[in-house]
Amino acid sequence: MKKKYYIGVDIGGTKILTALTDKKGNILSKAKKPTEADLGQEVIMRNIQESIDKVVDKSEVQKESIIRIGVGSPGPLDYEKGIIIENSNLSWKNVPIVKILNEINGIDVVLENDANAAALAENYFGAGKKADCIVYITISTGIGGGIIINRRIFHGGKGNAGEIGHMTLVPESVYQCGCGNKGCFEAVASGTAIARRAKDAVLDNKDNLIYKLCKGDLDKIDALLVAEAAKKGDYLALEIFKITGNLLGVGIANVVNLFDPEIIVLGGGVMSAESLFIDQMVESLKERALKPNLENLVIKKAELGKNTGVLGAVAVAMGDDLL
Ligand SMILES: [Zn+2]
Repeated sequence: MKKKYYIGVDIGGTKILTALTDKKGNILSKAKKPTEADLGQEVIMRNIQESIDKVVDKSEVQKESIIRIGVGSPGPLDYEKGIIIENSNLSWKNVPIVKILNEINGIDVVLENDANAAALAENYFGAGKKADCIVYITISTGIGGGIIINRRIFHGGKGNAGEIGHMTLVPESVYQCGCGNKGCFEAVASGTAIARRAKDAVLDNKDNLIYKLCKGDLDKIDALLVAEAAKKGDYLALEIFKITGNLLGVGIANVVNLFDPEIIVLGGGVMSAESLFIDQMVESLKERALKPNLENLVIKKAELGKNTGVLGAVAVAMGDDLL
């Protein structure tokens, strides 16, 4: 039988990561190129195409054996038309990327939101392997996610389902979200929220390690700095992580009650400080999630690390071939 290969392209704000894999997701060749987002659409598309050419050349796989190219990009996207409607990182508007790459390469191309793609990658190759229903949540500067039901991405009516970060969690909150609302999950429980809570707290209280570590320059406070202070036992920083853990637990309980997933996979930079909030998170999750949904629930840390994005794009390229 003819061997099957797939290409995944992960378009980020600063770099494009591309990989060619076999049908088990083993990476045979990889390419990394700067996105050069500020140089406009033509340059970005050229960089994407060069990275595709590079992974094909390096792998010595015949182009005819490549079944599909998957592209992961931040949204909003038009899945049906294969168009990136907008990408604020790249100042792109209405780019028919599927058509462009298909015409150049003569290979089918599939486009997917990067968070959904990451969820699929964890389901196919990572922490959610073998489960039919998983929810992937990434906690970093924002909170994003993807919902996998019966090993397929749940897109909703128009393709925009899974915006976990924009569930309203604290309606009376003054914390503004990028979407325009206040009190969204990501506005109150992301790395950005951890930093904001710390900045607000040190305005009135300078006798703490957070203030010392930032040397009085509040702009230097980020989630990492707050974690550093907490790990050294600073009371205020520990309290901020407790509050965050509690809110994360509430948000995850909402997801568990809605989707009853077998596995919740947690990724993103804030997870490197999990020891500071996990107990509180689990406690509030247990308090609020429905008992039958909790019974067999497994919470796992994402496993794919730096390859999540590109393996996500590969998983999208594989589509139903892996089912
Ligand atoms: Zn929001």
